[in-house]
Amino acid sequence: MAGNQKDRENYDLLVIGAGPGGYVAAIRAAQLGRKVACVEKDNTLGGTCLNVGCIPSKALLESSHRFHECRSSLADHGIAVGEVRLDLAAMMARKDAVVKTLTAGVDFLFQKNGIDRYLGTARLLDSGAVELAGDGTIRRLSARAILIATGSTAATIPGVVLDGRQVVSSTEALAFPEVPKTLVVAGAGAVGLEMGSVWQRLGAEVTVVEYLDRVLPTADREISRLALRLFKKQGLRFLLGAKIESIARTGEGCRVAVAGKEMLTADRVLIATGRKPCTAGLGFVELGGTVDSRGFIVVDSRWQTSIPGIYAIGDVIGGAMLAHKASEEGVACVEHLFTGYGHVDYSTVPNIVYTHPEVAWVGRTEETLQEENVPVKTGSFYFKGNGRALALGDADGMVKLNSLCI
Ligand code: FAD
Repeated sequence: MAGNQKDRENYDLLVIGAGPGGYVAAIRAAQLGRKVACVEKDNTLGGTCLNVGCIPSKALLESSHRFHECRSSLADHGIAVGEVRLDLAAMMARKDAVVKTLTAGVDFLFQKNGIDRYLGTARLLDSGAVELAGDGTIRRLSARAILIATGSTAATIPGVVLDGRQVVSSTEALAFPEVPKTLVVAGAGAVGLEMGSVWQRLGAEVTVVEYLDRVLPTADREISRLALRLFKKQGLRFLLGAKIESIARTGEGCRVAVAGKEMLTADRVLIATGRKPCTAGLGFVELGGTVDSRGFIVVDSRWQTSIPGIYAIGDVIGGAMLAHKASEEGVACVEHLFTGYGHVDYSTVPNIVYTHPEVAWVGRTEETLQEENVPVKTGSFYFKGNGRALALGDADGMVKLNSLCI
């Protein structure tokens, strides 16, 4: 959709990217009475999170959990069901419908808040203007401030090329047309464990290969150890402290060579070893903007980049790659810009991994506190001693509190 042609060069704020960072920032700026435009290269709004990230993965996690529960634990509750069959096409259609509802919701919010939406790819021309290429046309948009919220895309491991079919990123793993018989997942972070859980519950033999010696490396070590035990109990297989050396395509499958360990064969391989910032073609570096050694845009405490008038938030500036962190930065950046005050307390950003049980944490881990020589007292309680958990038949897991002795 084209924006308002008459005013198109007179925006207070131009946001590049309509993910949870960009769309929330655009809405907040409009709520503050500013004239706002948002450029998004994809047909639908919502970015990685709504289209190929948080939302579709959570939809599949819920559906696969219900499928698995029907097959494995309903009998414990005295419920006898007949044959439980998987209708993968229906499961995928439900996931797509959830995504569509939410992305359309962002469209509605843009209209309601009077935000001009432009479909196309933005390239920075200077600190107050972008070139917009889309629909075979090129136009120039200008604004008092520009906010980069271009997010991230899947990274791969050295020497491994993603082909979108056999060796894939999470985007394709959210839409496999059939359950792979065998799946190798590279990376035991949130995305690898969530997608590995989905396909394991649906019937795949899943092996997770992780370079570090533990799963969920940023979680509390005790929690990550327990999570590993529970995932193994569910049937996921792990090779920890293991490096993938090469992946060779063999007709319809792959051979995955793991250094010093074993040769794995798999129908499909999911590379979930991290994400890289989306700055290619943006023109930021070409304008002299500063990025760090991994390509993330460097910002100050007001999310201003090294180029005055150009700001950046969300995955593209690194830190925790989480939707709510991106949104919080979007709100704070815009409020700082237009009201003079905006702040994010990064120590309160929660992490959640939507496996079963879910793994969630906020604040510093026990090891971090010890490394920082902060006296700490820990307290933990296992769900197996909790009446509610036992009544649910869901007594795997624990709660742990690290309190500072000050
Ligand atoms: P993005 O959401 O990546 O949005 C950036 C947008 O910018 C995209 O729409 C892109 O098309 C657009 N764009 C890029 N370049 C240009 C350009 N030059 N011109 C115009 N448009 C451009 N986080 C959570 O908090 N909870 C979860 O449960 C969770 N689950 C996830 C599951 C998966 C499988 C994945 C991959 C990610 C998950 N995340 C989750 C992470 C979350 O999706 C990201 O942290 C979040 O989307 C980052 O928001 P963003 O606005 O910075 O960028």
